[in-house]
Amino acid sequence: MRRKIVAGNWKMHGGVDLVSDFSRVASDLCVGGGEVVIAPPFPFLISAVEALSGSLVRVAGQNVAIAEDGPFTGEVSARMLADAGCSYCIVGHSERRMHFGETDRDVCHKIERLTAAGITPIVCVGESLGERESGLALNVIERQVRAALEQGLCGQRADLVIAYEPVWAIGTGKVASPEQVQEVHAHIRSIVRHVAGDVAALVPILYGGSVKSTNAGELFAQQDVDGGLIGGASLDVSEFGEICKLLS
Ligand code: PEP
Repeated sequence: MRRKIVAGNWKMHGGVDLVSDFSRVASDLCVGGGEVVIAPPFPFLISAVEALSGSLVRVAGQNVAIAEDGPFTGEVSARMLADAGCSYCIVGHSERRMHFGETDRDVCHKIERLTAAGITPIVCVGESLGERESGLALNVIERQVRAALEQGLCGQRADLVIAYEPVWAIGTGKVASPEQVQEVHAHIRSIVRHVAGDVAALVPILYGGSVKSTNAGELFAQQDVDGGLIGGASLDVSEFGEICKLLS
């Protein structure tokens, strides 16, 4: 059985107050039966790990350095994330690809670092609106997933989570339809199966893009949807809690 996950990506929002809000409701967040993960900005990771230590909520980084260590001012290594108590780290988010020039190759190296540090990567893939309208969505996703799997699945370990996040649905209020999402998720799983064999059945594939408590239920009900990566709605503890409850 593969695990189900709801992960909240705070992006460059939140602070100690939001960490406290989450720690107050942490036990209620996990009633849906899946894993719950929050990804606060770097300065709040340790306080989040400490505040949530008695709960089942896990903490994720939002990014990681390609280098193992060294003179890279402003960077944070996979080992540092592990030291801080992170269990997961988001890589390849479209905002990093778009604003910081992150490439498929970078994503692949980051996955390698995270895996070596014992952190599970949450690898984001997804097409732009132009790519979808040109009928290229599945090709783009295939390229991104294949690049990630070069390092992400060593042997038969399913220590990888994939998040399908169509760029046109992120922060726009436009959510992909359950049929569109299921089509892409099934495609992703078939690529993983092709590259890595039976382990594909164990890799959680999350959907992200304007997920709210009002649309999460029908998305999570799709056969190959194993939960969600939530941006804006993860900043509202009660809304995020409602989404978590829909995971079963
Ligand atoms: C995200 O940034 O990963 C995301 C899914 O954002 P939103 O839920 O706000 O669309």
